[in-house]
Amino acid sequence: MSAPAAKPKPRLNPVRTKIREVEPKERIRGFGEVIIPYSREEAIAEAQRCIQCGKPWCQEACPIGQDARGYIKLMAQGDFDAAAAKIVWENPLAACLTKVCYHFCEDACPVGKKGEPIAIRHLKRAAFEYGKPAQPYEPAPKIGKKVAIIGAGPAGIMAAWTLGKLGYDITVFEASRAIGGLMTMSIPSYRLTKGTFEKDLERMMKLGVDFRLGVRVGRDKNFEDLFKSGYDAVFVAIGTTEPQGIKIPGVNTPGVLMALDMLIDINMGKTVYMGKNVAVIGGGDVAMDSVRSALRLGAGKVTLVYRRSREEMPASDDEIAETQAEGIEFMYLTAPLEILGKDHVAGLKCQKMQLGEPDESGRRKPIPIPGSEFVLDVDTVILAIGQQPNLSGIPPETGIVVNKKGVIEGDPQTTATKKQGVYAGGGTSVVHAMAAGKKAALAIDQFLRGK
Ligand SMILES: Cc1cc2nc3c(=O)[nH]c(=O)nc-3n(C[C@H](O)[C@H](O)[C@H](O)COP(=O)(O)OP(=O)(O)OC[C@H]3O[C@@H](n4cnc5c(N)ncnc54)[C@H](O)[C@@H]3O)c2cc1C
Repeated sequence: MSAPAAKPKPRLNPVRTKIREVEPKERIRGFGEVIIPYSREEAIAEAQRCIQCGKPWCQEACPIGQDARGYIKLMAQGDFDAAAAKIVWENPLAACLTKVCYHFCEDACPVGKKGEPIAIRHLKRAAFEYGKPAQPYEPAPKIGKKVAIIGAGPAGIMAAWTLGKLGYDITVFEASRAIGGLMTMSIPSYRLTKGTFEKDLERMMKLGVDFRLGVRVGRDKNFEDLFKSGYDAVFVAIGTTEPQGIKIPGVNTPGVLMALDMLIDINMGKTVYMGKNVAVIGGGDVAMDSVRSALRLGAGKVTLVYRRSREEMPASDDEIAETQAEGIEFMYLTAPLEILGKDHVAGLKCQKMQLGEPDESGRRKPIPIPGSEFVLDVDTVILAIGQQPNLSGIPPETGIVVNKKGVIEGDPQTTATKKQGVYAGGGTSVVHAMAAGKKAALAIDQFLRGK
C-alpha cells in the first residue's frame, strides 16, 4: 500500500489584516484611543495567517516568553476564551501589553520576511475583546516567608505576582499614590486607555499582595529596617523616574517643561498650559508622547527637534508613524543651543548637525556644522531627553549599578546584588521590566529555599 499523500502546506499570506485607526484630524482633538481593535472575524483571519512555525520564534523573542504561537492557534480556531486564558496565565499585565508592548515577537516572526509579520499585539488585544479570561490566580499554600518589593512598576508587579503565586507573603512599598509605575503614571490615555490596568490588577488581587502606597523607602521607611522587621529578601524595582535635564542656557525659563512631569500631570487630570508654538527636544517614545500630547492640549504648531537622523531615533516605528500622521514636523540633525527669552520662552536657538563615526552608544555621533545656527520661533520648550533612577536611600553596599541603558541592575543572571538577600532590576520597556521582575522572583525563590 502506498504512503498517504503529504498534507499540502498552507500558502503563506504576506498581507496583514489592516488595523484601523481613528482619523488623525479627529483623534488630535482629545486623549481618546487611536487604535480601533480588530473585529472578531478580522482577528480570526489574521490568526489564520500564522504558519505555526516548528520553532516558536515569537515566544523566544518575547522577554517574558509568552507563547504567542499557542494563543494564535486557538484564535485561528475561534476559541477566544481559551486564548485569553492562556495569555493571562503567563502574564499579569496582559491587558496593558495588548496596548503598549513593543512586540519584539513580531520582529522575529518569519512571515515578516515574505511580507508583514503577524499582528501579534493586535491579536492579543482581540483575545481580550472577544474572550473572557475569568480565571483569577490561585496562590500556592503559604510558605511562611516574607519578601519586600520596592517600587510598584511593571518589574515590581511581575515579581509580586510570581512570588505571590508561589505562596510568599509580599509587601510592595510604592513612593507614589498609584500602582503601575511609569506605565500607568505617564503613558497617555490615547495609547493606554483608562481602566486597562485596573483589569489586570483585579485578577491579581486574590494573591493578597499588600501594596503600601505613598511610602518612599529611604524617606518614609529605612531600607535597613526591612530585614529587621522580618523580610527575608528585598527586590529593588525603583525604575527610572527622574527626568534628565540638558545643559544649555535658559533651561529654567518659564515655558520650559519636563516631558515626564507634564505627562504625569496630564494623566492625573491636572491643567497643563500649552503654548501656541511648541518645540520638543528628544527622539524617544517620551518625546513622541510629548509632541502628541502638546497637540492634543491645543498647541498650533509642534516641532520635534532631534540631533541625529531618523535611522538613529530610538522611538518605536509605530509611534513615529502615528506621530507623523498627526502632522508633527520632525527636525532631524538639529541640536538645541539656547532657550531664549527672559520672563517666558521666546525662541529656541539651534544648530544643524552632521553625523560622524559611531560613539559609545553605537549610534553615529552628531557633529555641529559651523555657521548653521538659527532660531526656532517657539513659546514653549519640552525636554524629553531621558530619565534616570533615584538611588537615594538605597545603601551603596548593595553595589547596585546603573547600566548603559540607564536601568538599575544586579547580577545579569540572577539580579542578585552584593548584599545577601537583595535583588535589583528594571527595564527600558514594560516587558523588559517584567522579565527582570520574573528573573528576580525565581532567584529569590531559589535563595529562600536554600538552593
Ligand atoms: C512617557 C512614557 C511612555 C512609555 N511608553 C512605553 C510603551 O509604549 N511601551 C513600553 O513597553 N514601555 C514604555 N515606556 C517605558 C516603561 O514605562 C518602563 O520601561 C517601565 O515602566 C519600567 O518599569 P520598572 O518597574 O522598571 O520601573 P517604573 O515603571 O519606573 O516603576 C518604578 C516605581 O518605583 C517607585 N519608586 C521609586 N523609588 C522608590 C522608593 N525609594 N521607594 C518606593 N517606591 C519607589 C516609583 O514611584 C515607580 O512607581 C514608557 C515610558 C514613558 C515615561
